[in-house]
Amino acid sequence: MTVIGIDLGTTNSVVAVTDSNGVTTTIAARDGARIVPSVIHFPAGGDIVVGDRAKSMAAVEPERVASLFKRGMGANTFLANGDDFAVDGKVWRPEELSSLVLKKLKQIAEEHLGGSVHRAVVTVPAYFGESERSATRDAAELAGLQVVRILNEPTAAAIVHGLDSRARGANVLVFDLGGGTFDVTIMRVEDNADMMVLATGGDRKLGGADFDAIIIELMAEHARKEAGIDILSEAWMIQDARDKAEDMKKELSSAETSTRTLSTGARPLPFTLSRAEFEAAIGDALSDVSDTVEVTLEESGIAAGDIDTVLMVGGSSRIPAFQKVLTSLIGREPEFSKNLDEDVARGAAVLATKLSGNADPRSELATMSIPQDIASHGLGMTTVRDARGMEEMNSIIIPSGHAVPASGSGVFCTVEDGQTGIWVRINEGDEESLDFVRQIGEGHARFGRPVPAGYPMRVELSYTADQIVRLLAYDGESGNLIGEVTVEREGALSSVQKRDAMAAIAELGVQ
Ligand code: AMP
Repeated sequence: MTVIGIDLGTTNSVVAVTDSNGVTTTIAARDGARIVPSVIHFPAGGDIVVGDRAKSMAAVEPERVASLFKRGMGANTFLANGDDFAVDGKVWRPEELSSLVLKKLKQIAEEHLGGSVHRAVVTVPAYFGESERSATRDAAELAGLQVVRILNEPTAAAIVHGLDSRARGANVLVFDLGGGTFDVTIMRVEDNADMMVLATGGDRKLGGADFDAIIIELMAEHARKEAGIDILSEAWMIQDARDKAEDMKKELSSAETSTRTLSTGARPLPFTLSRAEFEAAIGDALSDVSDTVEVTLEESGIAAGDIDTVLMVGGSSRIPAFQKVLTSLIGREPEFSKNLDEDVARGAAVLATKLSGNADPRSELATMSIPQDIASHGLGMTTVRDARGMEEMNSIIIPSGHAVPASGSGVFCTVEDGQTGIWVRINEGDEESLDFVRQIGEGHARFGRPVPAGYPMRVELSYTADQIVRLLAYDGESGNLIGEVTVEREGALSSVQKRDAMAAIAELGVQ
């Protein structure tokens, strides 16, 4: 059974397959497009439309078009212009919207392969935490796909690169700036193509859509000054500005200036932006990115001069200013692959075939080891700092940067005589202060009898290879299992709701 590789992107998504010999194909939809915009149009009647055609409807029926919903993954609702995104009274959650994109990609793969597909490797930004990862898993389930592995996007890109003999025995920096997220990953590719992620950093709220928004602001200012018109007053004008802003931004990656005519509802108004002006406008992003790369390098323990390859991934890495930042930080020109927009899906497909056991034993694919990822966030438990139980803190059990799968344990004690159990809270983050970590799960560990103060409980906290979190609590003296916490995302669909949503989505026609 074929397992497909999916890059579920903020702005674009891609599906790929790898055959048993390691030959990877990015699958084209019927219209020939291999890149499917992660945009959904809900027409008043008929099938839901995903992709380019949906994108072109955004200016026509903005209230019936959803985009950028990956940014809401892990949250309970997807906000569009400040409100829950809803069409015809149905509120759509981020994982439901993502499931429609996945359903479309599944269909594209099934048409190409001539058979049904039920399993996939799906990529996520390395920086995604537990709740975004589990929402991604739910999205796949709703689309009728079992996730074989959640894979970090930069690791996927590096898998493709690692199969290329030039990258052996090298330190690789993967710079991944897409439509909605930014990731930087530093990894070591050994002579035998073994890969080890050394450090990862990023910003889950930085990407091409933000640069578009900055250009839209400049456009709005221009229209206000030159024509006294607010182009942000109508949804269709905003959408028109958004399309033009993205076009101009892309053009500025190869041209020094770009001009478009703005729709103002009155007379057409030309707007020109130079590359220098654009670079000045995104100055904050440039310095944030530069700082993140520096910090990640420091965490990896590899000096800038010892990076052998800088691999650029994600559409926004085409912006020359980011290439300049990297060249000055690392001292070497970054490399672009021929399939910049497809690398992530291709890497996912390679791993998919590898994990499915379908690789030909004589192929290079069969001997390639599965790359070891690292935890992008630390994991800890809420404990009390002093015996009086006054001050709570986060006790870190698995630090970020630890190779995954990972597990760690700690012994914690009761604070009062007669306690019969301990309320266990799991936190994501690397700080001791509870103000700076995110509580992701809680549960009760019960001793089954009153125990004295200072009685020990041993906990084992683990991350699976997908960075799914699980906690087991044991009686510190008898060794008996006394509690188990699997992290349930707050507000996540219950299993009954999931079953209903799955049935509803299976019924929907998606084009
Ligand atoms: P991805 O999520 O990797 O597909 O990246 C998509 C993002 O890359 C979108 O925000 C695009 O506008 C942006 N992008 C694509 N091509 C270019 C380009 N030539 N210059 C600047 N940004 C680009």
